[in-house]
Amino acid sequence: MPADAIVATLRVGSLAGVDPDTRLFPFEPVPAECFCAECKAIFTAADGCCECPTCGTISRELGQGRELLLLSLQLA
Ligand SMILES: [Zn+2]
Repeated sequence: MPADAIVATLRVGSLAGVDPDTRLFPFEPVPAECFCAECKAIFTAADGCCECPTCGTISRELGQGRELLLLSLQLA
């Protein structure tokens, strides 16, 4: 089966280690989010940095950003 007969849609976290510029397959990027225990708030972890932008606490709870999920797979 030729590769172009397969249509896959993936959900890829920004910390999953996938090059965002890859054009091998389409994917839905997921920004990394952390939970700050001090602020009781979720914040976007820009560049994989888990430092709370409000209070500066380093978060140890990653809510999302490492996933690599296959959402759909279509075989032509
Ligand atoms: Zn905080």
